[in-house]
Amino acid sequence: MTEIDCKSVEQLIPQYLEGNLSPEEVRRMLLHIRNCRDCRDELEINFLLREGIRRVESGETLDLQQELGRKLKHSEKNIALLERIRSGILIIEGTAAFVLAACMIIMIFD
Ligand SMILES: [Zn+2]
Repeated sequence: MTEIDCKSVEQLIPQYLEGNLSPEEVRRMLLHIRNCRDCRDELEINFLLREGIRRVESGETLDLQQELGRKLKHSEKNIALLERIRSGILIIEGTAAFVLAACMIIMIFD
């Protein structure tokens, strides 16, 4: 797992808001903003600007802060699911490697 810096997160934010990031990129971004106040603010400002302009244009008013919170939570949930799937795959891979090793040992000592 590679850590990303604030500069990369800054570039990911607009794409995140567009929904154009891969799950891996979203995961990295979320991990980063969890610990980085600056980037969290950056995300919030980006979101408020984007959505704010759209809302004003369409005449809608909604609690945008709350909405961003929901969006982030939704992403967190997706990432958690992805991680569960991934660890499931690791377990399967681990088991396969174990079975293979066991077969080899049996063949050697047979
Ligand atoms: Zn940062």
